[in-house]
Amino acid sequence: MSDFSGLTALVTGGASGIGRATADLLLARGADVAVLDLDPSTVSGPLRGYAADVSDDASVRSAVAGAADALGGIDILVNNAGTGATGTVEDNDDAEWHRVLDVNVLGIVRTTRAALPHLRASAHAAVVNTCSIAATAGLPQRALYSASKGAVHALTLAMAADHVREGIRVNCVNPGTVDTPWVGRLLDRAADPAAERAALEARQPMGRLLSADEVAAAIVYLASPVAAGVTGTALAVDGGMQGLRPRPE
Ligand code: NAD
Repeated sequence: MSDFSGLTALVTGGASGIGRATADLLLARGADVAVLDLDPSTVSGPLRGYAADVSDDASVRSAVAGAADALGGIDILVNNAGTGATGTVEDNDDAEWHRVLDVNVLGIVRTTRAALPHLRASAHAAVVNTCSIAATAGLPQRALYSASKGAVHALTLAMAADHVREGIRVNCVNPGTVDTPWVGRLLDRAADPAAERAALEARQPMGRLLSADEVAAAIVYLASPVAAGVTGTALAVDGGMQGLRPRPE
């Protein structure tokens, strides 16, 4: 894996789950890392935490400026903050659609817009967006979430095209089902969370959920100088969920 010594990174939604695993791995590989999160109170030590809501432009601009000042620039931006919704098109009202699209899609727009002047100044600029297999998989009961991640996928390709000649690479990772506090909260809503977890694991091709570290490794690869020739791609880390057929039982 690549050495990130001398490079700086900003990870949104970096206080928990996939974002936290990514921030920790970048740090372990030698990067100087800042985290932008609604609640950065769990971030400490060499990780710098900045409180911001990606759905609020002023808070994003101030956190990105603060992080860039403290780090001395931004080489790597990981747009990972996201929020969820379940149901069909009949289940979520307009306000809920606006709320989720505002975080998952416009959140990336706002953070990238604020970070672009710093990325342009970098010799190793990379943006990695956390998308989802929901962008392309046709999952039931995920109309709004899937639409938001489909937009993240398209936005990744458009941003890659717009900034390729500026030396800024843009890619996304498409995780399957990852064992993070997010999934823990969904399971906790079930009548029997342990049974629900076992059923969820049984539905996975690998018979288990993915770990946040497994997704972080893909994000860190795409962010690294090793991936210097890679832009405009979606890297699935889904335990075979899309590519494999169900096991014959
Ligand atoms: P998580 O809940 O563990 O972490 C999400 C982090 O984002 C939290 O620290 C939260 O405070 C922060 N955040 C949420 N909304 C924010 C906002 N408006 N502004 C700033 N920070 C905000 O969740 P996770 O599972 O690690 O999810 C991270 C990303 O991975 C999301 O974009 C999600 O859609 C995506 N994803 C997750 C899974 C999964 O199975 N867990 C699968 C595919 C994609």
